[in-house]
Amino acid sequence: MPDGSLPPNRPLPEPAARPLRDADALAAAGLVPPGSLPTLRAVAARYAVSVTPAMAALIDPSDPKDPIAAQYLPHPAELEASPLELEDPIADHPHTPVTGVVHRYPDRALLKPLLACPVYCRFCFRREQVGPSGGVLSEAELEAALDWFAAHPQVKEAILTGGDPLMLSPRRLGHIIRRLSAMPHIGIIRLHTRVPVADPARVNDALAEALDTETALFLCLHANHAREFTPEARAALRRLSRAGVALLGQTVLLRGVNDTAESLEALLRAMLECRVKPYYLHQLDRAPGTARFEVPIAEGRALLASLRGRVTGLAWPTYALDLPGGQGKAPIGPDFAERAEGGWQVRGPLGGGHFQADGATSEGSPTAG
Ligand SMILES: *Cc1c(COP(=O)(O)O)cnc(C)c1O
Ligand code: SF4
Repeated sequence: MPDGSLPPNRPLPEPAARPLRDADALAAAGLVPPGSLPTLRAVAARYAVSVTPAMAALIDPSDPKDPIAAQYLPHPAELEASPLELEDPIADHPHTPVTGVVHRYPDRALLKPLLACPVYCRFCFRREQVGPSGGVLSEAELEAALDWFAAHPQVKEAILTGGDPLMLSPRRLGHIIRRLSAMPHIGIIRLHTRVPVADPARVNDALAEALDTETALFLCLHANHAREFTPEARAALRRLSRAGVALLGQTVLLRGVNDTAESLEALLRAMLECRVKPYYLHQLDRAPGTARFEVPIAEGRALLASLRGRVTGLAWPTYALDLPGGQGKAPIGPDFAERAEGGWQVRGPLGGGHFQADGATSEGSPTAG
């Protein structure tokens, strides 16, 4: 399984002790060729760069197609925006009732306490907003955002995102979790994060303690390649599951990273081994300068269909497109059932198919699936 194995042993330049935050640091670490510096400096001036020591150590600089490098290292193509791409592809902006809150669905809303991340992914749909310097809510803004949740009893679920909420200090994160937990209408708290794979050392006892609550707490881990599940990442996830945190996985379908049946299977299996239940496989949002990552929807559907039946059903994520304009995330297949005259034609994941005739109770029921 080439996609699930570690890169070959090789002398590392200098193991990075701190995140590499600009093109020159990446060149000094031997991760990008010095000749590319002028262009990559321009890219880094436009879109934030950060590669944590954990992720830098996973990159094989001798492999031009390295799937970890593709996700994190700046690339000249980022300066070429295509006309199909939007600066705010999923239209967060018009759905912001108070700073730091995005409310699009009736029963759940996002809380974005900061816009910093451990790493800056080159395909990020919020790339125009995220970065190390911007977006930390002031004390007053954070309280106003929490007050908004308290004043909206129809909102049953608070989703912490950003940026990455696990970049907050355990003290501040603990405060947010406690305030939300004290709201009787909040039944679910969810965090979307890349920290357990990108910077597993942050998942220490203080952080696990900050997440300890009687309210159901789901942590949705963003991971895109099996190799991201290092022994340190696995230990971080174990610490979280021991603390009673339910773990979900989300993945962006990315050209050159997880666009083969083998690499996708290895990723989904690595998640499950860490008790992470795959939740979403996202179709790429068309953010500026990300076109090289796009996998056509037809190919994504075929990839997933090839896993059905062959790979444990636990691994199955919902393949979804976040509709531009803020109209929500829609499942985009693959589907196995098709309406046919007098019933349904259902494709068999293990081969063949079956015509399921309408039962007596189906008579007069709508024909559109
Ligand atoms: C993605 C998103 C959610 C969460 O959607 P789920 O389908 O419940 O995971 C909620 N609010 C906003 C604004 C979102 O973009
Ligand atoms: S961690 Fe998430 S929000 Fe941050 S850069 Fe990556 S995809 Fe974007």
